Amino acid sequence: MIPVTKPFLPPVEEYKKYIDRIWRRQWLTNMGPLASDLEMKLKEYLELKHLLFVTNGTVAIQLAIKALGLKGEIITTPFSFVATTSSIVWEGCSPVFVDIDKNTLCIDSLKIEEAITENTSAILATHVYGNPCDVIAIERIARKHNLRVIYDGAHAFGVEINGKSVFEFGDISTCSMHATKLYHSIEGGFIVTNNADLLKKIAFMRNFGISGFDSFSELGLNGKNSELHAAMGLLNLNYIDNIHQKRKELTEYYDEKLKFLRAVKPIWHAEASLNFAYYPIILESEELLLKIKKELDINEIFTRRYFYPSLASSLPYIEKQSLSVTDDISKRILCLPLYYELSLEEVDLICRLMLRIQNN
Ligand SMILES: *Cc1c(COP(=O)(O)O)cnc(C)c1O
Repeated sequence: MIPVTKPFLPPVEEYKKYIDRIWRRQWLTNMGPLASDLEMKLKEYLELKHLLFVTNGTVAIQLAIKALGLKGEIITTPFSFVATTSSIVWEGCSPVFVDIDKNTLCIDSLKIEEAITENTSAILATHVYGNPCDVIAIERIARKHNLRVIYDGAHAFGVEINGKSVFEFGDISTCSMHATKLYHSIEGGFIVTNNADLLKKIAFMRNFGISGFDSFSELGLNGKNSELHAAMGLLNLNYIDNIHQKRKELTEYYDEKLKFLRAVKPIWHAEASLNFAYYPIILESEELLLKIKKELDINEIFTRRYFYPSLASSLPYIEKQSLSVTDDISKRILCLPLYYELSLEEVDLICRLMLRIQNN
């Protein structure tokens, strides 16, 4: 059996050492020493000024919307994980979907302005598969119309644009550290902003809005994370360069083996580094996708239609809307297995099967 993804796990002995220390200290959560250490190490690794470790990537988006005081309409992408849209609705705002660019699969910056109304307060866009949005164009539009910008960077760990972390763009960027992501702490996420006041506000908000003994400065929730999760994050950070290297190798091998497949890959931002978080392919037709997926399923090789269907056409709490590029791409895109333990032999097998099905 070959799953579509598998979480990276460091040697268990290393995790046990952390557990022993946690047991001795008896400090399990609430901004403990490991959580603080993780924040420091992540800032160092990603070269960021400010970062807050939180419960997960969804709470990170919710906190971002709340902290910016967003109201009314938020322009967003229909081609993302459900948490991008649901967070907008959860925070009492209305998502306004703008179609994606057919090459990058990120929100089409050329179509944003026509979606702006007097009720628009922000743009919330996803760096899909880690491929950065057109951050320069989005910044220009946001300035012109006085909008805030949030990036859902759940896929974008480690990506840089011209040597600068992708998380530095926008008013706030968020990331997920869920077990299925490139870099994880089992459950977890973080929030990045370059605005020190905003950071302070979010730091209170993630801790029930508590600002001191017996005092509250904000409306808050429980967005803290635990020492056990921080320990996993700290350990995995030691392996991130190996993880990256391995995924690069697998990606390049796939690229070579699938040269003759009737499919294309999303086109990556020209000035951005790659993080190899996913291996998505856009097949020539949905028919070919279904044929390939079925055959691979029979062979216990699991792929994922990620993201399908479009968020704009499938959520029961949203008025259904069709967006031509998103609808078309979401029907034809498939993510192939990609994880640290995957072997070149397995990739070889997957690719041979795929080509055989195509040519049948
Ligand atoms: C995983 C993911 C999230 C949610 O992160 P969690 O840590 O699972 O809450 C949000 N947006 C995107 C694009 C994701 O892939």
